[in-house]
Amino acid sequence: MISVERKNDSVELRTQVGEEVNVIIANKVILAIPGTKVLGLLKNPSPKEVAFFSTIRFASTIVASYLVNRSPFQGATSVWFPQIENQVIASLMISPQNLGGKHLITLACHDEAAQDLMKQDDRVVIATLTAELEKYLTGEPEFLKLQRWADAIPLFKTGYITDVIRFENSQLETSDILFAGDSLGGPYIDGALLSGEKAATKILQSSLQKKELTK
Ligand SMILES: Cc1cc2nc3c(=O)[nH]c(=O)nc-3n(C[C@H](O)[C@H](O)[C@H](O)COP(=O)(O)OP(=O)(O)OC[C@H]3O[C@@H](n4cnc5c(N)ncnc54)[C@H](O)[C@@H]3O)c2cc1C
Repeated sequence: MISVERKNDSVELRTQVGEEVNVIIANKVILAIPGTKVLGLLKNPSPKEVAFFSTIRFASTIVASYLVNRSPFQGATSVWFPQIENQVIASLMISPQNLGGKHLITLACHDEAAQDLMKQDDRVVIATLTAELEKYLTGEPEFLKLQRWADAIPLFKTGYITDVIRFENSQLETSDILFAGDSLGGPYIDGALLSGEKAATKILQSSLQKKELTK
């Protein structure tokens, strides 16, 4: 999708695959994309949409997986570190299964550390994360995979839920463009899913109201 534009009685969507641009005309649209991407797509956002979506911020993280000989924190499958204890590692997910005598560990970084490391190349990132992980291990970890998430999950700062409710209430059942995703429902899969159901319900209600009026 490269643009979404309100026209008189419809919404015009432009998609591009390679060189080919296609235009789709719709009555109603649910935009289920990350909240930080909305204003880049909407050609003529309303002042309320500009006010709400320009405040959305996401936390970053970097996730790395390793195989280790012995599982640290025996018995625990997840460990969370406050920044005061470890400024880089936010969490360790430890697989309880024994994979050929080894355990799979997946670590995730704190937002601030991830933002700093995001500017570094993979070698530096892996060396930094491995050194932090080694603080909790007896043997050497075997590095497997690195994944960078610049926009990992939306930050729900104090007052943000009130902003979401206010924005949603300002979106009438008759709105032509509705929004869904974790920035509206909550920073997890079920939050995103629920916001999609809410938007779909609004569209159904408005089409039922229209049918009643035309009877
Ligand atoms: C490392 C990590 C681990 C997580 N673990 C969990 C977990 O265990 N449990 C949990 O509940 N949540 C977890 N989350 C959070 C969860 O993944 C998200 O909250 C959820 O996926 C958000 O869903 P969404 O539909 O709002 O956005 P996304 O899943 O980000 O979907 C948005 C979609 O929009 C598409 N898109 C963007 N721009 C355009 C465009 N211009 N045109 C067309 N399409 C576009 C994207 O390609 C994407 O497919 C995790 C997140 C991360 C980063």
